[in-house]
Amino acid sequence: MARNLDPKCKRCRREGEKLFLKGEKCFSPKCPMVKRNYPPGMHGPKQHRARRTQYGIQLREKQKVKTIYAVLERQFRNYVLKAMKNDGDSGENLMKMLESRLDNVVYRFGFAMSRGVARQLVSHNHILINGKSVNIPSYNVKMGDKVSIREKSKKMFENLDKSTQKSETPTWLECDLKGLEGKVLGAPAYDDIKQNINIPLIIEFYSR
Ligand code: SF4
Repeated sequence: MARNLDPKCKRCRREGEKLFLKGEKCFSPKCPMVKRNYPPGMHGPKQHRARRTQYGIQLREKQKVKTIYAVLERQFRNYVLKAMKNDGDSGENLMKMLESRLDNVVYRFGFAMSRGVARQLVSHNHILINGKSVNIPSYNVKMGDKVSIREKSKKMFENLDKSTQKSETPTWLECDLKGLEGKVLGAPAYDDIKQNINIPLIIEFYSR
C-alpha cells in the first residue's frame, strides 16, 4: 500500500489532535491545530466530527498510531500479529515493538525533532549501534545497545542541546546529548509513551 502523501498537518486535523509530526512547528502557535482544529477539506469548518461506531473508533486509533510511528499497513499488521502470537499482553508487546524501533529511539534521545527526521538520519547512515552503522529505521534496539552518531556526521548536531529536545527522554533510555550518544537501559513501559494512544483498541481491531 502506498505511503499516505497528505501533508502531515492534515493528518492531525483529521484525527482531531496533535500527532507531533513536524518538530518545532508542533510546539509553536503556527501549529494548524491551534487555529484550525476541524477536519481538513472544503466543509471542514462546518463539519461536525461524526459520532463513531466502535469499529470506527478502533480503525481511527490504528490509523493514528500508524501515522505517529510512520509505519505502513503491512508492517503494522505484522507487528500486531507478532504481538498477539508472543507470550504476555498483546498490547504491551505491540507498544514495545513500536517504541523500540531505531527511528523512534533516535527521536526519543532528542537527536531529531520528529520521528520523520529521525528516520532520515537512520536511513542516511548517520546512526551507529554499538559502533556499527545501522540504516534500517525499523531495527529493534535491545537492552544494552549503545546508540551514537557517526563521527563524520557529528558536525550536523553541533547546535543540539536540551532546548531542541522535544520529546522527554523516557526512563528506559539514558541519553548524553552533549556526547551524542545514548544507551538502552531496559524495555519501554506504557507510561513512557506520553502521547494519547490507546493500544488495546488496535488489538481489538485486528482481533475481529
Ligand atoms: Fe500536527 Fe505538528 Fe502540524 Fe501541529 S504542526 S498539526 S502537531 S504536525
